[in-house]
Amino acid sequence: MTVGFEVMARDGAARAGRLATAHGTIDTPAFMPVGTAATVKAMTPEAVAATGARVVLANTYHLMLRPGAERIAALGGLHRFMNWPYAILTDSGGFQVMSLASLRKITEEGAAFRSHLDGSRHLLSPERSVEIQHLLGADITMALDECTAFPSERRAVEASMELTLRWAERSRAAFVARPGHGIFGIVQGGVHADLRERAARRLVEIGFDGYAIGGLAIGEGQQTMFAMVENDVPSLPADRPRYLMGVGKPGDLVGAVKRGVDLFDCVLPTRSGRTGQAFTRTGALNLRNARHADDPGPLDAQCRCPACAGFSRAYLHHLVKAGEILGSMLLTQHNLTYYADLMSELRAAIAAGRLGAFAALPGEAE
Ligand SMILES: [Zn+2]
Repeated sequence: MTVGFEVMARDGAARAGRLATAHGTIDTPAFMPVGTAATVKAMTPEAVAATGARVVLANTYHLMLRPGAERIAALGGLHRFMNWPYAILTDSGGFQVMSLASLRKITEEGAAFRSHLDGSRHLLSPERSVEIQHLLGADITMALDECTAFPSERRAVEASMELTLRWAERSRAAFVARPGHGIFGIVQGGVHADLRERAARRLVEIGFDGYAIGGLAIGEGQQTMFAMVENDVPSLPADRPRYLMGVGKPGDLVGAVKRGVDLFDCVLPTRSGRTGQAFTRTGALNLRNARHADDPGPLDAQCRCPACAGFSRAYLHHLVKAGEILGSMLLTQHNLTYYADLMSELRAAIAAGRLGAFAALPGEAE
């Protein structure tokens, strides 16, 4: 039953592990590309798999509104619908309700809102969120949470965190256990160490298959984010995966892995790819910049991706400037390959006990 998790090696607080799901095994630490609307934008599933990714994240909020969870279930589930044979983690929909929906109202029952697409009314309760994720066929389901805005008054953060804990209990109760499928609880509590610790301890009492560190990377800054990760990790079980939601930049990933995080997701590599930004082993590049116009060299000489193997910076600059779709495709594939290789290098460093000296970029602070 549930998802299996085995820690294979440790280096300080960091671990290298294997997360076993109904749709394959994920070597951790791992980065999950974001496939919001049942597609990683500008990428075929084959291209996503070629980067090395073995799990993607899909968004409950978007899919419940369009094309609809019941429709996807009738068509054989999300794996078949999007032709992705590996693992899928779905978010609970809570974050998007807060950030995208209009006229939202949070009550004990759930989040009532109007669709940003057509104004239709919906209620996302913990039970409905878990049901939608079951209809989609998610390998990893997330409990419904309320992501508190930053900054907020401590009293508001505490009330929101307590609501998230009650929703976590209802989410856990609504989850139908199946082999290779699991449900993760989410630690909230803003930037208040004691609230977060209380949330983590309560989630562990309820008992989840994995634990997410939520409510961070929303404006508090890297130093505070790392401090909250250091605060939360000791309260979470050593034998269960830990997922830092919505993070982040390469240096954020390295710093969080060093502090014991196993899973990440972020729109940064895919969104940046569509706006002409590339992450490389020598730093980030803006392909719009005219200095690339005559450069025959690759984006990153050490990268194995198709964009680096076959094309020059000059050509990629041309594609980006001309607004060609291929520019988005190649830069997304490069960025996701860079992220996958960064995680692979982190796993190797943990296994070899040399993580201490590891940096995303030479001299970068962590
Ligand atoms: Zn590349």
